Amino acid sequence: MKYNIEKINEIGKLLVEVVEAAVDQEGKEEILIGDIEMALREGLRVIGQSALRQFLEQADGEEAEIECSNCGGKLKYQRRRKATIWSVFGKVDYQRAYYAGCVCGKGCAPVDRRYGIEPGQVTAGLAILIALSGIKESFDEGRKWLKEYLLFEVSENTVRTETQKMGKLQQQADKELVKEMQDENCLQKREQSQGAVPDILYGSLDAAKVRIEPRDPQEKAVKDRETWRDLKAGCWYEGEVVPARQQSVRQKDKQQREDVVLRAKNKKYFCDIAEAKEFGKLLWATGCAVGADRARRLVFICDGAVWIWNLIAQYFPQAIQIVDWYHAADRLKCIAKEAFPNEKERHTWLHRVTEDLWQSRVEAVIEACRLLANQSSLAKQSLTYYSNNIERMRYAQFRAAGLIIGSGIIESGCKQIVTQRLKLPGAQWNLDGAILTAKARAAWMSGDWHKLVSARSLLPLAA
Ligand SMILES: [Zn+2]
Repeated sequence: MKYNIEKINEIGKLLVEVVEAAVDQEGKEEILIGDIEMALREGLRVIGQSALRQFLEQADGEEAEIECSNCGGKLKYQRRRKATIWSVFGKVDYQRAYYAGCVCGKGCAPVDRRYGIEPGQVTAGLAILIALSGIKESFDEGRKWLKEYLLFEVSENTVRTETQKMGKLQQQADKELVKEMQDENCLQKREQSQGAVPDILYGSLDAAKVRIEPRDPQEKAVKDRETWRDLKAGCWYEGEVVPARQQSVRQKDKQQREDVVLRAKNKKYFCDIAEAKEFGKLLWATGCAVGADRARRLVFICDGAVWIWNLIAQYFPQAIQIVDWYHAADRLKCIAKEAFPNEKERHTWLHRVTEDLWQSRVEAVIEACRLLANQSSLAKQSLTYYSNNIERMRYAQFRAAGLIIGSGIIESGCKQIVTQRLKLPGAQWNLDGAILTAKARAAWMSGDWHKLVSARSLLPLAA
């Protein structure tokens, strides 16, 4: 937007007078820049409040009669009626024309309808900021943060409500996508319209436990009730080479080992607390949305829970499957620790088998575990683990093909959603609350926040 600078300067001059008077009244001996800033911010907030009120009060005239938007009948002018909204400038009371008397019984304030206002509620502009704090912090912490930024208070409950409203919008978008991608016509139409698909597309899936509170005392009384539920999460992404000058120390180490360091880009996260079967539909739908069904090479890197490989085989049988390198290699470390009290022996063994694994000699790794089966129960268990995943551990071939072999991206994704949000101190969740908060946060992590912002702005109009 372009502003008339002369007018802005005039307003500024007036604001200086107002702020000076206010600061004088405080009677402080020493005024520093921080005090002036704070006084200006507060002054600007009150100006915003006043301007918004005036804007809404001037926005309409008074017709004797208008058409009823509900039924097409006639509405008669009643009076100017008070309404309240909570905006980014705080609480705003305003008077606007109100019409009633239609046969359908519905009244109407045209100003509210025109601007997408829900009287008594938070405006879309404020809702977005509130929700942003609610996906980053516990609702109570979010409330405290907001007070610093906005200079007025909102309740913890408002933070929860607005955050979960955003999650609800993401949930609806997910549902629509699932429906769309199960419809043959939709899929075909999309194939014709969609442009380039990625050359190599990656997918990773994982799960993390979230504690869900019992819904009522009765539920609570049931002993041994499972209150921990799996939040299943997935990520679609592409790989890109990290230029040498941008590499971290850890990545430089990696470069010496692997020649090339890859990182993920265009990350799209999705999540739900649902059975594998339901989650599979979301996997398919979100996958189609990024071209997983048509990518030249589709690669899944996962830590290897059975439900994960089953879903992948069901929906994307063409995909290359890779067991996350770090999980496969870490297991060897644990075996070595259990089997060799002697540090030198341990080190020698570990060095050799890790190199075998790195060079795709999985059979040699299995043989090495077999020889330790009597000394280490973990080695014995791991026979199945490595045997079941031989083809998913051909790391030398995967590396030669220029593929990423670590699933760090989804582990960090789960951590960002679960550890850094759902498990924060003081967090208590019912099932819906956990799902909606997780979905809102995943949207933010995927760079899809603006889509929710648009949908949130339209929400009052849809009602
Ligand atoms: Zn009507």
